[in-house]
Parts: sequence; structure tokens; C-alpha cells
Amino acid sequence: SLTGKPILDKRGHFAGYHGVGSDITGQRRQQEQIAFLARHDSLTKLPNRVLFSELLHEACTHADQHGIALLCLDLDNFKLINDTLGHATGDAVLVAVAERLKGAMRQGDIAARLGGDEFAIILYTNDIEEALRVAARIIERISRPYRFDGQLAHIGMSIGLTTAPQDGKTPSKLMKNADLALYRAKAEGRGVARLYDPAMDQRLQGRRQMQAGLRRALTGGEFYLEYQPLIDLTSKRITGAEALIRWRDPERGLISPAEFIPIAEESGQINEIGNWVLFEACKTAATWPAPISIAVNLSPLQFRDPALLDSIKAALSESGLPPERLEVEIVESVMLESNTQTEYALWQLHSLGVRIALDDFGTGYSSLSYLRRFPFDKIKIDRSFIRDLGYEKDDSSIILAIIGLAERMNMVVTAEGVENEEQLVLLSAYGCTQGQGYFFHRPLPPARFLEALRASETDRATPPPANAGAVL
Ligand code: C2E
Ligand code: CA
Ligand code: CA
Repeated sequence: SLTGKPILDKRGHFAGYHGVGSDITGQRRQQEQIAFLARHDSLTKLPNRVLFSELLHEACTHADQHGIALLCLDLDNFKLINDTLGHATGDAVLVAVAERLKGAMRQGDIAARLGGDEFAIILYTNDIEEALRVAARIIERISRPYRFDGQLAHIGMSIGLTTAPQDGKTPSKLMKNADLALYRAKAEGRGVARLYDPAMDQRLQGRRQMQAGLRRALTGGEFYLEYQPLIDLTSKRITGAEALIRWRDPERGLISPAEFIPIAEESGQINEIGNWVLFEACKTAATWPAPISIAVNLSPLQFRDPALLDSIKAALSESGLPPERLEVEIVESVMLESNTQTEYALWQLHSLGVRIALDDFGTGYSSLSYLRRFPFDKIKIDRSFIRDLGYEKDDSSIILAIIGLAERMNMVVTAEGVENEEQLVLLSAYGCTQGQGYFFHRPLPPARFLEALRASETDRATPPPANAGAVL
């Protein structure tokens, strides 16, 4: 840096400069460093969200000439790495992911970390096939195992893609497109790349409409419950029922919970809906003869709600149902995401006497370690394992393993989705304790459930003929 003042002689003529020259390299470096830090992610050194939005803006202004593809990338189940291997390993994975991303792109393309486990990429290309190839290559490379201090970590990646100028020309439109495509990729089972298409906008509209519908459904009494009997495979008697929610929309008719529950979870409405189910199910079950029990499905999101425990207690006391006759069904992910609060809630329920069942067992990570952390009362084998029973390549060995495990750990095993006699005979032979499925009963309205219950009690009163075999 040079500063100077002109020197004038006695007659006022210019006679040179007088000043100071100093080396400000250090200061400059520091400023650059600060500017760099403000616009880059400190962990991976990739551009951060701030710089990325400038770069995307810039890219969009020239999109008409050369075309760009925007990729939104998200690691699959990154939280699991953090939780099981620790945050230091989580950070190391993110750094390694960033390195692999750089390696999978051409020079001139831009990769950024938008935050958490979210990344974004701008590719300068107008060739959609090429962009999809890059996305596939990224997924393949990211999915290769990572090794840290002798530990192996696996992680997958989902990608949403959109192109400019075809799909849009503004940064906000492109980001929205790529997010929608990413949502689709995740919904389709993760580990895949999906290209935006305008139908995704319609689906988003559909989800919004459904959320509005759900708000109305609660106040308008459009929900009701059906009860699917649970059968003891030894005595063949009904021992309880699972409450399954139904929504009859005045315009669209019956909507499946498989369709609206995920949307209610996304919008947070699941807490209110779940509470309604709890109260309604307990109220109905309180009218059933003891010890017939009721099983209620709880969404993982309900477990994050600190008020859950109080709601369950209130449902029990208002209905007068003894806690021993209430069972809650949770899915594995509750245990994987578990923290002190969820574990506390589970232990509290356990000490109240409420039974806890692990639903859809075998479909998730089945990491099994949580079976040691918490004394589950029941395991429900997912119906995908029951479906193929009796066919050549069935899942008998898995079913047998689950039953053996449950026996040793003193848990009841329920087979879901029993649809025919052959499955029932095999399951009984394997030592499965309980069954549920269309072969016994479909989900029933309350009055029909009571009829089935009475019939099941009278069946027991008249012993079956000796040659009845395993038939109900
Ligand atoms: P789930 O907990 O696995 O419930 C069992 C599902 O299997 C029910 O579907 C039931 O109708 C169906 N099912 C029972 N027997 C058979 C059979 O033999 N064959 C076949 N193919 N299916 C059978 P549904 O009622 O459509 O419920 C779907 C899912 O929606 C449930 O799966 C559960 O995850 C969720 N859900 C239902 N009610 C509630 C609720 O009140 N709260 C929450 N959070 N989720 C619920
Ligand atoms: Ca269930
Ligand atoms: Ca289930």
C-alpha cells in the first residue's frame, strides 16, 4: 500500500512525493480468508449456500446459451451414521463425500454444501442424458464403503435433477424443481436420481389439498376406526384387535392410511390425528370384555412429542381402560432415532403396564441392538415375509430366526398378513404365537368385531372335532 503527498518547492513547483509504502500482504490474506469463510463451508471447503446462490444466479443468466443442470443431493440416513458411529465419524464422512463429489464432476462444474447432509451441483451441459449419467456416477461412488480408523461406514445418496432453460430459468424455480425431484427420489426408496417433471408440481398440489382435507376431517368427524382381530394360534381365540384408521372424504371417498398418514406426518398433523385414534380406540376397547386388548399404531413423530405420555395417560383414565389392555405398535425407526426422550417415554409406558410391540419387523435396518436396550413385549413379523410362505424360495429361515429370538427374549410373535391356510399351518408349526390377517378377519367396524369376538368365544366352548386339523 502506498500513500503519498506531493512535495512543492518554495516557488510552489512539484518536487516529488513524500509518503509511506507498507506491505499489507498479511492483512489482504486475512481479508480474503474472511471472505472465503463467509462463502464456504468450513468442514468440506465447498462453496456454502450463500456463494452457491450467487453462482446459480450467475449460471441462470447464461442458461439460454449453454444450458445447465441443477442437482440437489441428500445423503440417505446420515443421522444413523452420526448416532451409531459418532459425530467425528459423521464429519469425516461429509469430508470424504465432498472429495468424491469433486472427483465425479468435470472441471468448471460447481459443487456446494448447502448445510447438514445436503449438497447441490451445477453442471454446465444441455444434455439431459449426460446429467443423468453424472448423477448415477455420483451415487455409485458415494455408495462405496468408507473406512475410518478400521471402522466401515456405508451411506447412500438420493439426487433430484432439473435442467435450465427447459424446466425453468430462475434460481428459485430450479431449486424448487430439484427439491421436488429429490423428494420423489427419496420416496422411491432412496439411492436413486430422479429428473423433475411437471407432474411433480401437481402431486405437490395434491399433498397440499390433502393437508387441508385432513384439517377438516378431524373437526368434521370424517375419521373412524376399524378393528382387526389378533388370533392366538394355539387356542385359536381372538385375544385383541389392532385399531386401523379410516378416512372417508365426502368428495373423494375412502382414502387409505398408507396414503394420508405420511402426509400427516410431513405436516405435523399426525400428533392431533394420533391423539384422536388413542382416545377413540381406548374408549371402544373399554367396552370389550377383559382381557381383550387393543393395539394402537404410533408414528415415530408422535414419540418426538413430549406430550405423548400425558395423552396416553389421559386416554386410559378417561376411558377407564386398564393399561395392561393397551398395546402400542412402534416401528424400528423410533429406536434408531431414539434419544433420551423417546427412551424415557418407552420406559414410562412400560412401567405403566402398557405393552409395546415392534411393528413391521424385518423391513428396516433390523440392527437388533435395540432389542437389548428395551424389553419389547411383542414382535410383529412384516407381512412381506408371510406372503411367500410355502413357495419355493420363501423366507422361512428368517421367520424361524425371528421366532427363536422372540422365544428366548420372552416376546410374543405375531405374523401379519396371514391370507391362507397353508401359511397358518406353517406358522403354527414354526411356533409362532399370534396371527393377524384376512384369513382370520379383515379390519372390522366395532359391532362386527364384537360379533367375531363372541363367535370366537363360543367356538372355544365347543371343542373342535378330532380331525379338524389346524383349521380354525
Ligand atoms: P400396519 O400397521 O402394518 O397395519 C396392517 C395393515 O395390513 C392394515 O392396512 C391392514 O388392513 C393390512 N392387512 C391386514 N391383514 C392383511 C392381509 O391378510 N393381507 C394384506 N394384504 N393386508 C392386510 P391399512 O389399514 O391400510 O393400514 C396401513 C398402514 O397405515 C398401517 O400398517 C399403519 O402403518 C398405518 N396406520 C393405520 N392406522 C394408523 C393409525 O391409527 N396411526 C398410525 N400412525 N398409522 C396407522
Ligand atoms: Ca401396525
Ligand atoms: Ca405392520
